[in-house]
Amino acid sequence: MTAPLIDPFQRAITYLRVSVTDRCDFRCVYCMAENMQFLPKKELLTLEELDRMCSTFVKLGVEKLRITGGEPLVRRGIMTFFQSMSRHLETGALKELTLTTNGSQLEKYAKDLYAAGVRRVNVSLDTLDDEKFARVTRWGRLPQVLRGIDAAKAAGLRVKLNAVALKEFNEDELISMTQWCAENDMDLTWIEVMPMGDLGNEDRIGQYWALSELRKTLAEHYTLTDLAERTGGPARYVKLEETGQKIGFITPLTHNFCESCNRVRLTCTGELFMCLGQEDNADLRKPLRDFPNEEFQLEKAIRNAISHKPKGHDFDYSRQSISGQMTRHMSHTGG
Ligand code: SAM
Ligand code: SF4
Repeated sequence: MTAPLIDPFQRAITYLRVSVTDRCDFRCVYCMAENMQFLPKKELLTLEELDRMCSTFVKLGVEKLRITGGEPLVRRGIMTFFQSMSRHLETGALKELTLTTNGSQLEKYAKDLYAAGVRRVNVSLDTLDDEKFARVTRWGRLPQVLRGIDAAKAAGLRVKLNAVALKEFNEDELISMTQWCAENDMDLTWIEVMPMGDLGNEDRIGQYWALSELRKTLAEHYTLTDLAERTGGPARYVKLEETGQKIGFITPLTHNFCESCNRVRLTCTGELFMCLGQEDNADLRKPLRDFPNEEFQLEKAIRNAISHKPKGHDFDYSRQSISGQMTRHMSHTGG
């Protein structure tokens, strides 16, 4: 038996989020600059390397893989990676294979994703207004994403929406988006905006909207019941009694969720970030490339990295300035 991954605070690491590309067909204002410099191809893990890396994590006890980016579905050949990962679902070692996507390519890939064993997708969508959507994503077009969501549902995928809460941007859509999700049988999770990307440079986009405020407004329209459900991450859920749908709140900045953290993040270059709010990372690409036939070297490097997983993160909005501002972009660590 291989010993599972347990960090110094007795947290079992069972969830790996993998960024498979830093590229994207959108340029969301809170995530990227308009003129992004992307990484040279040789820096990226190849699809085969991603396979070896993820398979090693699965061997060490990771049960849930979330593929993200950048936009994961713009990585060339990514479907072969999904197809290949499905073997771990078949053995039962992997319990869930899923992805977070902007939805632009779902129309093309929904069926293939289902065939590879994916059953749920998170689609990021901050507004249902064409013009606002174009403004916040800079390059995105809403109808394409809506067609993607339809295709995902038609293929049998359960869709959850993720929306970044932005004051004076989508504040006025709280109820209409909730209703739209209820009509389309989708759960909805609101994410508190984190100090990354090009915030502040865009007119009236990117301002912090505390989810406690959002929740208060929601409670004026619906009966909220707190759910005990925990996913080991920063999300907390309520049920809306009137619609039966689940609404999530991801508040990495105002709540300390670190004690139950079960996850680590792999970038597309093979760096392992043990905590979203800390710069500390381990280079796993080197052992992967240096020892193509000695799997234990990669395992050793992974165990060593996990033994350095910090207790908690550094973000802090409660002070007037943002003290934990991250220098890297969200598209690098995958959100
Ligand atoms: N491109 C895919 C997408 O948009 O879903 C996957 C990658 S994206 C980096 C993952 C998630 O991070 C998205 O839901 C996005 O809204 C969120 N995100 C990006 N920048 C953020 C920020 N500064 N604060 C909070 N969430 C952010
Ligand atoms: Fe692309 Fe997702 Fe970042 Fe938007 S949030 S720019 S879709 S990676």
